[in-house]
Amino acid sequence: MKSTVLGYPRIGAQRELKKSIENFWKEKISEEELFKISKDVRTRNWIIQKEADIDMISSNDFSHYDHILDMCITLGCIPERFKNLKGLQQYFAMARGQQKEGLDVTAMEMTKWFDSNYHYIVPEFVKHQEFSLNTKKIVTEWKEALALGIKTKPVIVGPITFLLLGKEKEKGFNRLELLDKILPVYEKLLKEIDSFGVEYLQIDEPVLSLDLSKQEQLAIVKTYQHFSKINVRLKIILANYFDCYGDNLDVAINLPVDVFHLDLVRCPLQLDDILSHPSFSTEKILSLGVVDGRNIWINDFERSLKYIEKVTEKLDNQHIWIASSCSFLHCPYDLDLENTNKKIGLDVKQWLAFSKQKLREISTLKVLATTPGNEDANSIFNENKKANQNRRKSELIHNTLVKERIDKLTNSDSQRISQFSDRQLLQKETLDLPLFPTTTIGSFPQTKKIRQTRAKLKKGEVTQEVYDEFIRNETEVTIRFQEEVGLDVLVHGEFERNDMVEYFGEQLEGFAFTQYGWVQSYGTRCVKPPIIYGDVSREKEMTVKWSSYAQSLTKKPVKGMLTGPVTILQWSFVRDDQPRSVTCNQIACAIRDEVKDLENAGLKVIQIDEPAIREGLPLRKEDWKNYLNWAVKAFRISSSGVKDDTQIHTHMCYSEFNDIIESIAEMDADVITIETSRSEMELLDAFVDFKYPNEIGPGVYDIHSPRVPTQKEIENLLDKACDLLPYENIWVNPDCGLKTRDWPETKSALENLVKSARSMREKM
Ligand code: GLN
Ligand code: ZN
Repeated sequence: MKSTVLGYPRIGAQRELKKSIENFWKEKISEEELFKISKDVRTRNWIIQKEADIDMISSNDFSHYDHILDMCITLGCIPERFKNLKGLQQYFAMARGQQKEGLDVTAMEMTKWFDSNYHYIVPEFVKHQEFSLNTKKIVTEWKEALALGIKTKPVIVGPITFLLLGKEKEKGFNRLELLDKILPVYEKLLKEIDSFGVEYLQIDEPVLSLDLSKQEQLAIVKTYQHFSKINVRLKIILANYFDCYGDNLDVAINLPVDVFHLDLVRCPLQLDDILSHPSFSTEKILSLGVVDGRNIWINDFERSLKYIEKVTEKLDNQHIWIASSCSFLHCPYDLDLENTNKKIGLDVKQWLAFSKQKLREISTLKVLATTPGNEDANSIFNENKKANQNRRKSELIHNTLVKERIDKLTNSDSQRISQFSDRQLLQKETLDLPLFPTTTIGSFPQTKKIRQTRAKLKKGEVTQEVYDEFIRNETEVTIRFQEEVGLDVLVHGEFERNDMVEYFGEQLEGFAFTQYGWVQSYGTRCVKPPIIYGDVSREKEMTVKWSSYAQSLTKKPVKGMLTGPVTILQWSFVRDDQPRSVTCNQIACAIRDEVKDLENAGLKVIQIDEPAIREGLPLRKEDWKNYLNWAVKAFRISSSGVKDDTQIHTHMCYSEFNDIIESIAEMDADVITIETSRSEMELLDAFVDFKYPNEIGPGVYDIHSPRVPTQKEIENLLDKACDLLPYENIWVNPDCGLKTRDWPETKSALENLVKSARSMREKM
């Protein structure tokens, strides 16, 4: 029996790699210095895994930016516009674009890695795409580890996943047609690393977790049959993760590979299907992904051992590996770095395991399965059992009042009093807004001064009073600015918020925060998701102070600003001891109470942001309906407690709406603001085809760029929107919050935005 890990986080325990890469970009350190730091990160990763008794350790799981981008380099899949560049300059230009020394190349696209919050670089394909092999990275890393006495298993992305995750950049072909061209390059790769003495190669094909067409399944068969005929000694590990093999199981189980990896965290039920499958073979090694690579809870050893026992009835120990469910890329580094404080107490800490702790879990499970008499392992087992038992009963987690409230929810709790058309009339009366009302999405520039002052408050260098006074000032300035520029529905600016989830998590019961729990989101960007460990409840108001202060400064309506339940859930580590839907409902109730408090405090407009609704969609379509049902319901619970003339807004960015428009409509927000400006209003099509009845603010100003849109540009976009939608339903607003912008461009852009709305009014 062997212990194995599919991949290890690579940003460095203290985000050293992130910082070094950013310094390299700023030309503060040389390429040599950067390479030295990245080698250190790799070395430490390997040694940590070795010290934790992991038998099969990965290499080539490291990356300076993204592993799909690395694969583009390995396969020579480099778009024409980068061909004149070399080395790291080319690499980072592909990732981020480059605009210097007369050069102006746009970056490759970036998109979400399955249902995670990690983003990968999207490979670009042309019709006459050529591939060529570059094994430098793989070979270098293999040799580095070998020098430490570690014979690694290199990890690569398989051809089908690589092709399917990419995009055709020309019409007239399908990227799967490139398979015949890409296979010889993979073949060369296999032969070359085989000649170095690589014993096992892990080939990741997580597309096996998706709904695949017949044609795609056949491509998988063809690929692995091809590989099995290559004359090499190395053995292939086929790794699928994030969901079941599902409909792809019949195909996958017959593939001529040596090791077959299962994600038993996301899909425990598939174990029985596999063990009883007519094609199940005792010759193949099963890699049992029992330790969760996507979450931060300690393993349940009892449960994992049950899975392992089941397999030992059918397979001898040589054919069983104990594994992480997927790469630890999605887990923070090391729980030991966290000193217990008010953010994360000792009680909560005993239920957590980050990457380093999970390594021990894997090797302990192996010992428990192979040498049941081992004393050390047994005492760890007992500790684990105790921790899991007290987690099940802990008062810290279980709040009867919250549970009762969730149980007692009825349909009327997710139902506004009247239907939209009636509410719309009442709101028109109460708010008395002009046609094409103007507003913003919530945040105004978070200047350096603001971030510094917040940092000072954290360090205790300024008092709460001084900080509050400072924020009050910023808020007032922003209210005055919005009045002057002539916006119709104002916002307070969100200056008091660090982050749209953290701000709420910090005030809700059931959340814990880490100091070093960083996870790579893309490139050098890392996030530190809150940990939802217990029943969620709201002890007291969270935003009323700032919103009502802002409202007290002006006669114009100020919009209360909240983050929605699905987004809070989606951007946190979520407890695994109850369905996500239950946790989501708990958050929804907390937000509902906040909405009511805002209403009572005189706020007539309240926005509940749900930018993450779409990214929560399950990988397989058959699971979509269930998810959308509870997600929409949670939003409605949060938003339905108000009077008819209180106007509920929601905001969603980076979304395709086509396949979920029905659910968006079911959310029944009075106004939805969306991101459309970069797509030239294309994203509106879904709303148009559906005849979306409620009011809608298609973003007319791309806040992702410092560029100031002209009045004419904005008006053109609004004209387009009017061609598509009833003009009485159209709002005028930017794409998203302005927190990443600077004041000068924000001012000019909003001036133009207001002017364009006025001009539209005159035209009607
Ligand atoms: N209200 C938030 C803001 O303006 C919305 C952010 C988002 O959509 N990501 O910053
Ligand atoms: Zn947004």
